[in-house]
Amino acid sequence: MREHELVLEELGVSHRQVRTPSDLVGIDGIIIPGGESSVIDKLSRIFEVREPLISAIAGGLPVLGTCAGLILLSNSVIGAIEGQQTFGGLDVAVERNAFGGQVESFETAIDMPVIGGASVKAAFIRAPLIRDVRECEVIATLTNGDIVGVRSGNCVGISFHPELVGESRVHAWWLDTVVAGAQR
Ligand code: GLN
Repeated sequence: MREHELVLEELGVSHRQVRTPSDLVGIDGIIIPGGESSVIDKLSRIFEVREPLISAIAGGLPVLGTCAGLILLSNSVIGAIEGQQTFGGLDVAVERNAFGGQVESFETAIDMPVIGGASVKAAFIRAPLIRDVRECEVIATLTNGDIVGVRSGNCVGISFHPELVGESRVHAWWLDTVVAGAQR
């Protein structure tokens, strides 16, 4: 969470943390961070953010989900814990912990043609993989072709963490393209 805030500060964008439904009022976009998707799911229900957030996303609120955030945006989850729900928005199946556990975490460079210039730096931490892409555009792949980023309209989900490795171009692209494009 803090790392996303630092990227937004670097890009000169004001921000606030969303914990309750009233925090959603008036925002131009939302980033769902990494962490543990089942815990974020439970907290969203306890704090009653789940339903208003689902409505806002369905209404076109720009959203960027990283890692657990991608899982929460996916319509179906392989390896979900019992009762785990998502907000949905991306018509994909994601496989949780597809690379193994914490020790299998790694940094690499991602091919992301929507972002010009050099390949994108990315950290993968107990990351999910995108398995079954239906109505989405693939925006990021590993060199072996595995899909690690998708977009469907206002929803963007990536398996990895650019914010942990000093990479601000994914956020800049999302702000310039998805958030700016949606502003009414
Ligand atoms: N493995 C976590 C999950 O399934 C995601 C890890 C992360 O966000 N870095 O929710």
